[in-house]
Amino acid sequence: MTQIIERGKYKVHVPENVISILNMYKQDKNHKKEAGGIILGSVSNDYNIYISKLSLPSVFDKNNRYSFERDKKVAQILINYEFHNSKGRTIYLGEWHTHPEKYPIPSKVDIDMIQEQYKENHINDEFLILFIGGLEGFYLSIYDGHTLMS
Ligand SMILES: [Zn+2]
Repeated sequence: MTQIIERGKYKVHVPENVISILNMYKQDKNHKKEAGGIILGSVSNDYNIYISKLSLPSVFDKNNRYSFERDKKVAQILINYEFHNSKGRTIYLGEWHTHPEKYPIPSKVDIDMIQEQYKENHINDEFLILFIGGLEGFYLSIYDGHTLMS
């Protein structure tokens, strides 16, 4: 079932396959490191946001139990590929990663990261999603260049 999450004027549609990916990388064992990647999907002009896929972690990412930094080149290749293959419909929507806590809250590093990505990103310059998977729930917010709506 697709979950619809409202953040400000936006409605974010999160399908079951996206939740499954978060569950696959859940840090439910002590040796499991943070994992993450980028969020891809499409946007309609009535502020509906459709997440269609999460990129899987790559061997080039830098991660440990309490931090995650994705590889920039791998993500950019995927963004370009999906963009051209969908004739510009599938775009980069934001960033996802896991936290080893029940109900995740973003760290200062996470907030700085999403603000930095917003400044650098030129395909979707309206907003970016920050999506964090925890042990029992997830966190999803939208950064519109001014506020982080959670
Ligand atoms: Zn984090």
